[in-house]
Amino acid sequence: AEMIQEKIGERGICGRLSADQFACLIRRPQAYPQEYFIHANSEINTLANMQNVVVKWGVYVIRDKQVSVEQMCDRALLAVRRIKGQYNNYVAAYDDTLRNKLLREQAITDSMEAALKERQFVIYLQPKFQIKDDQLAGAEALVRWNHPQWGFQSPAEFIPLFERNGFITKLDQYVWEQSCAELHRWDQAGYPQISVSVNVSRADIYNSDLIDFLTRILKKYELQPSRLHLEITESAYTENPGQIIATVEQLRTLGFVIEMDDFGSGYSSLNMLNQLPLDILKLDMKFIQNETAKPTNQGILRFIMSLARWMNLSVVAEGVETREQLERLRETGCDYVQGYYFARPMPCEEFEKLLRKQHEQASKKSLENSLPLPDQQKPMLLLADGDIRYCEEMRGVLSQQYLVQCVSDGQSVLQYLDMYANQIRLIILSLDLKDPEGIDVLKTLQHRIEVRDIPIIATGYWDDQWEEAALDIGADDFAGKPHTPMSLWKRVQRTQSLSVLRQQEQILREEAYRDYLTGLLNRRGLSAVCQALRQDDAPLALFRFDLDNLKKVNDQLGRDQGDQRIRQFSHLLRSHFRQSDILARLGQDEFIVVMKKTARKEAVVRKGEALGQAFVEAGWNQDVPLTVSAGIAMWDLSETLDEVLARADSALKCAKVGCQSRCRLWEEANVWGIRSEIVKK
Ligand code: C2E
Ligand code: CA
Ligand code: CA
Repeated sequence: AEMIQEKIGERGICGRLSADQFACLIRRPQAYPQEYFIHANSEINTLANMQNVVVKWGVYVIRDKQVSVEQMCDRALLAVRRIKGQYNNYVAAYDDTLRNKLLREQAITDSMEAALKERQFVIYLQPKFQIKDDQLAGAEALVRWNHPQWGFQSPAEFIPLFERNGFITKLDQYVWEQSCAELHRWDQAGYPQISVSVNVSRADIYNSDLIDFLTRILKKYELQPSRLHLEITESAYTENPGQIIATVEQLRTLGFVIEMDDFGSGYSSLNMLNQLPLDILKLDMKFIQNETAKPTNQGILRFIMSLARWMNLSVVAEGVETREQLERLRETGCDYVQGYYFARPMPCEEFEKLLRKQHEQASKKSLENSLPLPDQQKPMLLLADGDIRYCEEMRGVLSQQYLVQCVSDGQSVLQYLDMYANQIRLIILSLDLKDPEGIDVLKTLQHRIEVRDIPIIATGYWDDQWEEAALDIGADDFAGKPHTPMSLWKRVQRTQSLSVLRQQEQILREEAYRDYLTGLLNRRGLSAVCQALRQDDAPLALFRFDLDNLKKVNDQLGRDQGDQRIRQFSHLLRSHFRQSDILARLGQDEFIVVMKKTARKEAVVRKGEALGQAFVEAGWNQDVPLTVSAGIAMWDLSETLDEVLARADSALKCAKVGCQSRCRLWEEANVWGIRSEIVKK
């Protein structure tokens, strides 16, 4: 302060604004050159204890005296902030571009919340390809802001601002959810299960809701965590690496695929690379462009590649713009590429076209590879649909493997089955069928013992309720219309392979695995069948039923009567669940049902309640009132059978203790409910 005072002397006024900030108001006959400040700095450095101090000057030139003194100081500070950390630059003047930049940032900040609500943010997808076979391997979701007045805005401008003002967490959660919704839609359409990479900012990782949010949306859209790749930029790890690593480690343990974004962009963390929870290295665009421009014998790229191999990481190259770059990357053994050479980021609909094209090519190939059978050796497929054009279109593909019989009304379906049930391998049944209606035909088929083992694919125009109803009644799959012959073919193949598995289950059910009284699986059978469950079967619902008061029946009416009730209940279970569901009796009065492919909790609870109701209404309990309680747990196969049985058991206890309903779904929250209800009792 003394030094400044001395320098300024009579020419102006000096003051201290805060800790290390000073302000001077001086006359300015001409602009001061950079050298003036360099000189001033070295003079300051000669003072005792000031050797390493660097002073930076921000200048605001007063032209308009209306501007308040505070504002003048703010503007000078703003100017100096721009050169903070810049070596050899000691002075910066405030100018209007700086002011405009601030105004613009303010405008962005003012409109961001509304923009999110009004869905002005949209995701674009940039395809990623596998180098070895040019197959589409996934996409990166990149956000775009389609502002009604300003038009499309580049994320390079607004993302850094959102990272500073904290809005990034909200925006990213929106982007992640939209990405999951897309993945879910593609799954519904039967496309190959590719993954989507989303960007995760450092602020997102500090957000305590991160893990909950991600697991919530995966559940909502019925996705495995590995479908979402999380791109975390290399520089995110430089500050507070301990905490970042711990959170990312947790995400990785949950099954998310972790990518290190912008690898090689300067912060290089080679020394800590082996401590980071990682699956994929994503090489930075600039790095790729620099390295591929050098003569072949420069080995950095090769070194990175062998490092990645050694650490078991895949490598993605980003920003590939030319054929030469691609070839260099292929040579060095890079796994995936992304860049303008292949495709720019594009709207979701356009990406979907790409996905569909790839899917159809792959299906065609698999169809060509499976040689057509001569007619007399082909199994029969019954295609029931009122739309003759549709039948003809589908028949083309299906008849390579099946002898396709087309019928156009419900009556004919039933007649056909009367005659050929033992030759028919699969039924495709339209819910739009008339005389009787498709849904009624489906119901009838469930009660016909001779068709129980024939898989059924229901078809109909997209409607959640249709789908749910069809699967509830007993269809093995639902194919929404419109669909291509290829996508129907895919479903037929899948249903057939599942039905083979089902036959294996049947064999397991024999002898040692079967309960002598009811023919249902016993404990051992249940474990064996559950062990054979595949990710395809998930999500599942596990029901634990308990006949209340069975002991009373045994005591008062005799064991025979008790056994009879048990048998009657097992019949009831058989008629209420799908052929493909797993039924077991664990102990005296305890039954387990594992329902496959059921994500809707309400439908599951309804099912349990309907069964309880049917049991009461069957009127087997005139002498001794007999009711059934049910505990249900949803199951995504990440737990063992014993764990999910335990959860269903605590829900069952709650149902028994006298919650309003005798059927209870396990939820995190009602663990407390049960305790308090037990305490009350
Ligand atoms: P990034 O994650 O490194 O994304 C890659 C950027 O490179 C994208 O720019 C992409 O369009 C561009 N690019 C891809 N291929 C090429 C190529 O061959 N040549 C060239 N010159 N560029 C290519 P974009 O979409 O403008 O995104 C810029 C940055 O904004 C991203 O860099 C990312 O850091 C951030 N960002 C974008 N969307 C999001 C988001 O949803 N959340 C977060 N947190 N950040 C995002
Ligand atoms: Ca990225
Ligand atoms: Ca990047």
